Amino acid sequence: MKELEPKFRCVGCKRGLLNRSVARCLYCGADVPEEARLAPEAIAQRDAVHARMEASRARLAQYVPPKQKEEGSPALDFVDGVATGLDVIDMLGGGLSLLGQVLD
Ligand SMILES: [Zn+2]
Repeated sequence: MKELEPKFRCVGCKRGLLNRSVARCLYCGADVPEEARLAPEAIAQRDAVHARMEASRARLAQYVPPKQKEEGSPALDFVDGVATGLDVIDMLGGGLSLLGQVLD
């Protein structure tokens, strides 16, 4: 597997910049060049995505699978389960593609 190469490196210690929303290197405190910093809009967008992801996670955590009825239609329960699963996949997929847009 190819090693992940940081897009920007610190001018002081040459380490990869992990957090481009800060103005200084986390390791040596050197100034992060303007072009390596995230634009404020990008940071705001990332935070918005993060908030959405958190909301999705909270929804998932609250989800309780429907109780199996002792007498009922197994077919209906199956359809219900599949629909819920698709909803979850759709939600996660949306979050991932949004992340992809933010992280470059
Ligand atoms: Zn540094």
